[in-house]
Amino acid sequence: MSDIQIVGSPAGVEGAGFFATSLDKAVGLARANSLWPLPFATSCCGIEFMATMASHYDLSRFGAERLSFSPRQADLLMVMGTIAKKMGPVLRQVYLQMAEPRWVMAVGACASSGGIFDTYSVLQGIDEIIPVDVYVPGCPPRPEAIIDGFMQIQNLVKTESVRRRETPEYQKLLASYGIQ
Ligand code: SF4
Repeated sequence: MSDIQIVGSPAGVEGAGFFATSLDKAVGLARANSLWPLPFATSCCGIEFMATMASHYDLSRFGAERLSFSPRQADLLMVMGTIAKKMGPVLRQVYLQMAEPRWVMAVGACASSGGIFDTYSVLQGIDEIIPVDVYVPGCPPRPEAIIDGFMQIQNLVKTESVRRRETPEYQKLLASYGIQ
């Protein structure tokens, strides 16, 4: 018996010879299953991500095998590891170079809150400088937790309206980070 599961079609109206759905749902489905992650890995959590990409956990199963090391060809920023305050502007620049729509995942305690490094030189969470969509707890999080976070991102992507990025709420969120 095959373990392969086929992604279901979005909700719509169907009949003999036709199927209709809304553009939002079709675009959401396509985007959610073809995310291009940019792994911004600075320390140990990055090693856990390598395991997540390798054959046993195989993130490619979610349509995300194409990692991008150029922000301009990525739509999911995965921040994994301790971010020193000196590194903050670099991370922010990478985020700014990504085109919309873009999503951000803080992987592990360090990226989410500074982790055990409650010290003057470490950023106490990347949400101090860029907006974050999903936080993955753990020090380090296991690959299962990273995959769970990735699936939370997929849910967000699937349900996001194609016009969300033009809404006043989204513009306000970016403005609160000083981003145009
Ligand atoms: S959360 Fe833990 S495992 Fe991850 S980068 Fe920080 S110290 Fe390393």
